[in-house]
Amino acid sequence: MNTWQGNPVALVTGSSSGFGLLISVELARRGFDVIAGIRRMEAEAVVMEAAAQAGVQGKIHCIRLDVTENDDVTEAAALIFRRHGRLDVLVNNAGTAYGGFVEEVPARIWQEQMDTNFHGMVRVTQAVLPIMREQGKGRIIQMSSISGRVGFPGYAPYASSKFALEGFSECLALEARPFGIDVVLVEPGAYGTPIWDKGFTQMSAAKRSPYQSMLEKVLAFSQKSARQGGDPREVAKLVAHIACMKRPAFRYALPRSTRLTLHAKALLPGRL
Ligand code: NAD
Repeated sequence: MNTWQGNPVALVTGSSSGFGLLISVELARRGFDVIAGIRRMEAEAVVMEAAAQAGVQGKIHCIRLDVTENDDVTEAAALIFRRHGRLDVLVNNAGTAYGGFVEEVPARIWQEQMDTNFHGMVRVTQAVLPIMREQGKGRIIQMSSISGRVGFPGYAPYASSKFALEGFSECLALEARPFGIDVVLVEPGAYGTPIWDKGFTQMSAAKRSPYQSMLEKVLAFSQKSARQGGDPREVAKLVAHIACMKRPAFRYALPRSTRLTLHAKALLPGRL
């Protein structure tokens, strides 16, 4: 079930909700000591409750980790190494999703998206790479999206951050493989997690916006896709499977219900 020797250790960022929480529990079930990175320690109770319900108390430990804070990230990597002496798997999961039409998106939204979804994943990767390189093995699983492959109207801030992540990860994979480190990009379609409750409300264009009618269509499309997208536990199981397997021979993974999505079929023919 788990091909790592001894007590493997995994770091999952953005663990207080959605995929991150489910992935943490799934990895703990499969024998990992899981370090659950959470932005605010108040969320620890949520993680502990999920661990208790799954019967994996003691296998998940929360640490404060805001991926936009350099100090948090370097301290987290140092702490993991001090406590465990190893780090086998990183799941770079923390993210936000802001929507908006290109000419209407304010600068702070572009910055926020890139800082969390792209620079955040770069920061955490850079902090853990020396540990994995020294131990001669490791796996980095990047939570990308089909929005890292194709564009949709109104998705430019989010898609830009995920496209950047894909380019970063392609290069990283080539650099890291000789050191026994594998990089896999997971590219889900839309799933009904809390991410859609927050960012995409930012999309509300001004009443007289020329994009008003497009906005309605985009919101309807997003909501419908999130409703139909499947069970987020499917994504958690896929990530845990990739974390546990022997060195993966692939660099991209699409969850099954994403593959079955009509839009994914139409837009990603070469990849399905
Ligand atoms: P979510 O909102 O439940 O999870 C995102 C997590 O990231 C939250 O726990 C949040 O607190 C955390 N986070 C946000 N900013 C952070 C920061 N600066 N530092 C640390 N943590 C931070 O939503 P989710 O859907 O589970 O999203 C997880 C990942 O999956 C994201 O990278 C997202 O882009 C990706 N994704 C989601 C979907 C989907 O449809 N839900 C599809 C494709 C990809």
